[in-house]
Amino acid sequence: MDNANDNKDRKFCLDLTEDELTAWCLDNGYPKFRAGQIMKWLSSGITDVSGMTNIPKTMRDKLREDFIFSDMKIVDEFISEIDGTRKLVYLLPDGNVIETVVMRYNTGLSVCISSQAGCKMGCSFCASAKAGFGRDLTAGEMAAQVLMSGAHVGEKIRNVVVMGIGEPFDNYDNLISFFKIMNDPSGVNMGARHITVSTCGLVPKIREFTALKLQVNLAISLHAPNDELRKELMPVASAYSINELMSACRDYVKQTGRRITFEYSLFNEVNDTFACADQLSSLLSGMNCHVNLIAANEFPGSPYKRCVPKRVEAFRRALENKGINVTLRREMGSDIMAACGQLRRGIEEKNKA
Ligand code: SF4
Repeated sequence: MDNANDNKDRKFCLDLTEDELTAWCLDNGYPKFRAGQIMKWLSSGITDVSGMTNIPKTMRDKLREDFIFSDMKIVDEFISEIDGTRKLVYLLPDGNVIETVVMRYNTGLSVCISSQAGCKMGCSFCASAKAGFGRDLTAGEMAAQVLMSGAHVGEKIRNVVVMGIGEPFDNYDNLISFFKIMNDPSGVNMGARHITVSTCGLVPKIREFTALKLQVNLAISLHAPNDELRKELMPVASAYSINELMSACRDYVKQTGRRITFEYSLFNEVNDTFACADQLSSLLSGMNCHVNLIAANEFPGSPYKRCVPKRVEAFRRALENKGINVTLRREMGSDIMAACGQLRRGIEEKNKA
């Protein structure tokens, strides 16, 4: 692995545009069609320059000197015995560690990517929050998780959710560049409707995102129907009230004509009462939206218990009776999810030592 300081002035390969690569080829005396060849390798998830077999050896050496090519690596993998979900642990060139989860649905493979190494948001139910914040990921590092994970499992990724470690709207500019890399018709060419981004509720960024009128799907991690409970679970609720958040969500639906999803993790006897279901349905009444209910996994040190099936079902029925669209989402790979944040910290310490 390269030393982090050596990487300061070199761009990660997937952050390069075809124009930049073309300019580099011409500056270094290579024909410009080489840029297209390299882009093709990158779009297929090959980020190790030695695997780019139609590129001459001397050019590969020069590429390695000028850009960061092979230094993002899968260093661990956990496969669920329950449903085959895979958690891939990536080591970044500077020693930070992130996690990517590959899940199989009947629509094909879906990958849940991280947007930051760690997270600043401090949600009380989240293992990633407990492990602290490292840095923002570049757009290329987000794209690499999709492309390298697809290459690793040997199958094309159909859908992407930006819902792993980190708050994507806290890394907004890189997130928007990531969408561009994914949508590029001459590169990865994944339709925006196959991508979903989830935010804990950074209201000004929701409004900026709305103004872009992208086809990317928007999900809000809500988890509580009132300010008091939400502040207990998610510190971001102290910065933006639930009324401000709902107003931004209603404007999003109105201005884009798109449906919005609300993620609601159920914690036993915390946010799963009839009173909560009642408040939630009033909050969402009349909005073009969908609620994903999740019986969240526990992790060591978490103050919350997994919601018992009887209460999950009662909550779902209470929402449905009020006319709210609800899906009960099974948490994939529940046997490999525990302690995800702690795992990241342990590997980072080993590699930075
Ligand atoms: S739940 Fe999401 S936003 Fe909250 S701390 Fe965890 S990673 Fe960050």
